Amino acid sequence: MMISEKMAARLNDQVKHEFFSFWAYLAMAYSFETMGLKGFARRFYKQAEEEKGHATKIAKYLVDQGASVKLTALDQPKVTYSSAQEIIEAALEHEKKITKLIGEIASQAVAEGDHATHSFIEWFVDEQVEEVSTVSEILGWIKMTNSPGQLLMLEGRVENS
Ligand code: MG
Repeated sequence: MMISEKMAARLNDQVKHEFFSFWAYLAMAYSFETMGLKGFARRFYKQAEEEKGHATKIAKYLVDQGASVKLTALDQPKVTYSSAQEIIEAALEHEKKITKLIGEIASQAVAEGDHATHSFIEWFVDEQVEEVSTVSEILGWIKMTNSPGQLLMLEGRVENS
């Protein structure tokens, strides 16, 4: 194995977090469907797929470094939301948490002098800046609405964000 046991464990933990993100965003997409916000739902189905991509990208890195991938059971995500704003706020909190975890992996890679993992995780560091920025932007749009009708008018913009 080309990475430390500690790093392998942390990356395996991140695989779980990214798969949980997939699960959580899928639950958010279904909630948007229930609210009749199809554009928001499509945006979150797409986001869920991206998260699955993040999980498998890290898992493949573990394989490439000769470490084993340890898939575990996932926690149940929150499945009931009362408003679009509540969902987006939850998504933002979640992305902030993921950003912190990715930062910890980067810090550990630096501390260990693990250049390969540091290089690998940089993509995720950049990705998180993008994720937090986009979700913050969507939250800003929602806060500008005063009625369900205005929320419907945001559908296209959110879907393509
Ligand atoms: Mg992710």
